[in-house]
Amino acid sequence: MSEFAIELRGVRKSFGRNEVLSGIDLAVRPGEVTVILGPSGSGKSTLLRTINHLEQVDGGTVRVGGGLIGYRRKGDKLYELHEREILRQRARIGFVFQNFNLFPHLTVRENVALAPVAAQHRPKAEVNAEALELLARVGLADKADEYPSRLSGGQQQRVAIARALALRPEVVLFDEPTSALDPELVGEVLDVIQDLARGGSTLVIVTHEIGFAREVADTVVLMDAGRVVEQGPPAQVLDNPSHPRTKAFLAHVL
Ligand code: ADP
Ligand code: MG
Repeated sequence: MSEFAIELRGVRKSFGRNEVLSGIDLAVRPGEVTVILGPSGSGKSTLLRTINHLEQVDGGTVRVGGGLIGYRRKGDKLYELHEREILRQRARIGFVFQNFNLFPHLTVRENVALAPVAAQHRPKAEVNAEALELLARVGLADKADEYPSRLSGGQQQRVAIARALALRPEVVLFDEPTSALDPELVGEVLDVIQDLARGGSTLVIVTHEIGFAREVADTVVLMDAGRVVEQGPPAQVLDNPSHPRTKAFLAHVL
């Protein structure tokens, strides 16, 4: 087993001639919270998406729990896995999107219970009970039978977090989980993520919430133009940055 929950080495990704990730190295230990900051277009979403093979990499490797993601090694060559195996890997990696992406025609509880039953073939009664526990954990036990459209954005995002957790993932990735929310709803979602962090979950969070990063992150990573320009504890990166790109970014968002 690897000492890292997530390990990226030399990850490269281009869209046509546009190189979006130019050799990313990133290592996250189990139970650690990593916050990724950086200007729009710097490659943050693409980076997260490579971790569960929503994007194929052009070079380098991604490992979760020590296992290669998306590919199998044969000699010194890598071959892409079959879709079925990729889906199985994805089930080990929770993903929370900016726009919640709940299924509108399913109730809150059905949203949470769907994948564990459909993809992991777990018993329906057990999954339903666990869905209620997860909804209680995000403060929404009383909304189990509502449809998403009846909920606020903050409530919908908390359902999306419960849904991600229902797969019992090894790591959870968040892509700007509060960016689509009205300001007064941001706190309730950040509180839920902070609870997960305190509970020892391994999290990678792309966000512009600097105060949250300072409080919750073990490591802050600053990306710019497809590269990691600086990484370290929040006190170092946020309060005493060494790289001019970090200084410029922080001056812009603070
Ligand atoms: P960020 O999340 O930091 O704002 P992204 O990873 O979304 O950055 O995007 C980085 C760059 O990659 C941008 O220039 C964006 O236009 C480009 N890009 C992202 N996804 C695609 C895609 N599917 N096809 C073409 N270009 C893309
Ligand atoms: Mg993005």
